[in-house]
Amino acid sequence: THFGFENVPESEKESRVGAVFSSVASSYDTMNDLMSLYIHRLWKDRFVRSLNPGLHPTTATTTSSSSPPQPQTLLDIAGGTGDIAFRLLSHATDINNDTMSRVIVSDINPAMLSEGKKRSLETPWAGSERLSWVEANAERLSMLDDASIDLYTVAFGIRNFTNKQAALEEAFRVLKPGGIFACLEFSKVGNRLLNGVYKRWSFGAIPLIGQLVAGDRESYQYLVESIEKFPSQREFVGMIEQAGFMVPEPAWEDLTGGIAAIHRGFKP
Ligand code: SAM
Repeated sequence: THFGFENVPESEKESRVGAVFSSVASSYDTMNDLMSLYIHRLWKDRFVRSLNPGLHPTTATTTSSSSPPQPQTLLDIAGGTGDIAFRLLSHATDINNDTMSRVIVSDINPAMLSEGKKRSLETPWAGSERLSWVEANAERLSMLDDASIDLYTVAFGIRNFTNKQAALEEAFRVLKPGGIFACLEFSKVGNRLLNGVYKRWSFGAIPLIGQLVAGDRESYQYLVESIEKFPSQREFVGMIEQAGFMVPEPAWEDLTGGIAAIHRGFKP
């Protein structure tokens, strides 16, 4: 049985996506490990390391000594259960000795956020004002001022948005000039052999694992289909530029042959 998302009108997509993530929230982290054979952890590590969040020595020396650099405000959109947020804070603290910069985790789904809050109790950031949780649709971040964010991250989130271009424009609005937009998302595999293996895994094994482990085949079927429909690396660069960002070369970084990709842009 299919979720039949192809035939879902735009107006209903949001609530269908909501139902998917409410259903998968409690098993989400386990399922990620199983479905990706733990590789999503490596991609997320790579993503955060490549962004080098937090104030670092180079930031400090390029800023005039009269005005000490301000702590950064990092925004993790579609932050779900906190995987990216925890990594951002760990990197800022452990690698850059930045104990001030803070992360706002935002997600449209309260069930995902409450899983994240629960998980945060086992991190050093439990109860810290460096970590906050906000329920919001990425297409309308009305709680955030213009030009208030230093780094915007979105990992495996944007393909679920009804209006991706609106979300990119909202990212542009909330970022400060010089601020970075960074996206980690499933993408297109170049190599035919790898693509064959990958497609067989995703269309065959993932819905089955979803059924057996999470008791929910349809949600995982949806996730696989949404990956299929997401634009190619090159097309997505065009959408980022369309929102006003500058995309420096190389315009993206493929991970595991393009199963996932990192895109970055900065607000001029
Ligand atoms: N970033 C996390 C990670 O990498 O593990 C979670 C990714 S999860 C696959 C996708 C998330 O996107 C879900 O938590 C879902 O609720 C959220 N989401 C879907 N549509 C959204 C929207 N319009 N605005 C904000 N978040 C949304």
